[in-house]
Amino acid sequence: MIERKLISWIIPCFNEEEVIIKSLNEIVKVSASITNYQWELVIIDDGSIDKTSELIKEFTNNKFDIHLIQFSRNFGHQNAVQAGLDYCKGVAAIIIDADLQDPPYLAEKMINKWENGFQVVYGKRVQRIAENKFKIFTAFLFYRLLNFLSGIPIPNDTGDFRLIDREVIDVLNSMPEKGRFIRGLISWIGFRQTSIKYRRNKRAAGLTKYSLRKMISLALEGLTNFSRRPLRLATFLGFFFSIFAFLGIIYVLYVRLFTLTWVPGWAAILLAILLSSGIQMICIGILGEYIGNIFFESKNRPLYVLSSRELIVHK
Ligand code: UDP
Ligand code: MG
Repeated sequence: MIERKLISWIIPCFNEEEVIIKSLNEIVKVSASITNYQWELVIIDDGSIDKTSELIKEFTNNKFDIHLIQFSRNFGHQNAVQAGLDYCKGVAAIIIDADLQDPPYLAEKMINKWENGFQVVYGKRVQRIAENKFKIFTAFLFYRLLNFLSGIPIPNDTGDFRLIDREVIDVLNSMPEKGRFIRGLISWIGFRQTSIKYRRNKRAAGLTKYSLRKMISLALEGLTNFSRRPLRLATFLGFFFSIFAFLGIIYVLYVRLFTLTWVPGWAAILLAILLSSGIQMICIGILGEYIGNIFFESKNRPLYVLSSRELIVHK
């Protein structure tokens, strides 16, 4: 009998008790239908405080091994995905959300592309059904800004839903950095990458686990970890406004010394102060983000702490 290749599902979840079983059923069903491969499920419980882990432990399927990795607290989605990549054994892995927003059946298409020589096959969202307008708009803006500011082309409208080859997984796992914006790192790594288009579904159940704070933090991670462009932008802004300031100084001196039309002009002063201090704050903030990145890198703490790791062998 020929040895079938092992492919790993990487499923990060945080308080997903409402949807996890439905999701696992779907993933198992799809895997079972793609018979030329062996499968394993690597599930990372990112510090859930609900029944997620209990449900996973009770979940029985008669086909595939399940690795359950539990974090000691909530370390965030990107770190959960990284843990999955660290522990998966497949010759390729598919990263997928636990809420069925990314359809598991696309695995077959991804595998086809992979077998045709692509090391990364990412899902590109062409339509996001019934997600809230604010999220769609901010995501749209974020991906465009990210591409403008990060030196490497990170494909627009892609999340972490993707298949990656072992070669890429190994490079990713060997990268020591703490600022983990995984889709950006994968772009940076290179190799042959391609996309498949898909419609992003509604969450099957439960609410989003990405709070506004987490979204902003992820966005800043992406924006400041890949290039110095934001810093350069701060420098250019400084130059740009200095030129205005310089012209302003000449004008003010001229009016004061050589004309009699010396007007109070408090509005102009106030606006100038507000504008310049606003811009200074932004520039200091950008600088601060980079210093913050150095701070975290230099501490060299692990990305996550495990509270347990168990293999639920298929029954
Ligand atoms: N998630 C996680 N840790 C977190 C937040 C989210 O592991 O701190 C998981 C979550 O369980 C889901 C995936 O990351 O499997 C995407 O999260 P979610 O669906 O809430 O985000 P959205 O699709 O709304 O952007
Ligand atoms: Mg989701």
